Amino acid sequence: MVKVGVLALQGDFLEHIQMLHEIDGVEPVTVKKVDDLKGVDALIIPGGESTTIGLLLSSRGLGSKIVELAEKGLPIMGTCAGAILLAVKVVDRVVGETNQYTLKLMNIEVVRNIFGRQRESFVATVEVENIGLVRAAFIRAPGIKSAWPPARVTGYINHPSIGEVGVAAEQNNMLALTFHPEITGEKGVYKYFLSFIKR
Ligand code: GLN
Repeated sequence: MVKVGVLALQGDFLEHIQMLHEIDGVEPVTVKKVDDLKGVDALIIPGGESTTIGLLLSSRGLGSKIVELAEKGLPIMGTCAGAILLAVKVVDRVVGETNQYTLKLMNIEVVRNIFGRQRESFVATVEVENIGLVRAAFIRAPGIKSAWPPARVTGYINHPSIGEVGVAAEQNNMLALTFHPEITGEKGVYKYFLSFIKR
């Protein structure tokens, strides 16, 4: 049995837990405080509101613990707001530099709300390296503007008005997705992420 933590401060953590329940050999656990990280083999940071999750991460001391574990190799997957929280650099499409709290674990620059606000949400099929074709829900989603070693972009979409936008990136034990695999029930994404545990 592998224990997979899902950060449960805000956002759609329940959907991730639901997905994990559907995969054999996985025990999902909610993570709300530092102690909950004990014995966790991997961690998922869900979508939601990245500024809110960031504030709670820093005020509960969870952020620094997650950074410490990530540096020791703990596999981490961040989806949507979770991808923002992994990024070294964050800008907002409209307001520019956000100066919000992030874990700064992945060498990626993300643009918040790159596709616009709620009404610009959509579902698209994306080809992600190592995973294949994925049905992906983009909800006020960010885009990955650039990545530098050891991070690299592993999936793009070609958006009708914005053009090519990075939507997936990897860096060693970390995976950032700017969409929601839990909403479209993309089990393959989880299986690939869980393969990071045995690396
Ligand atoms: N727009 C949100 C943010 O910037 C992310 C949206 C989401 O996670 N679905 O935090």
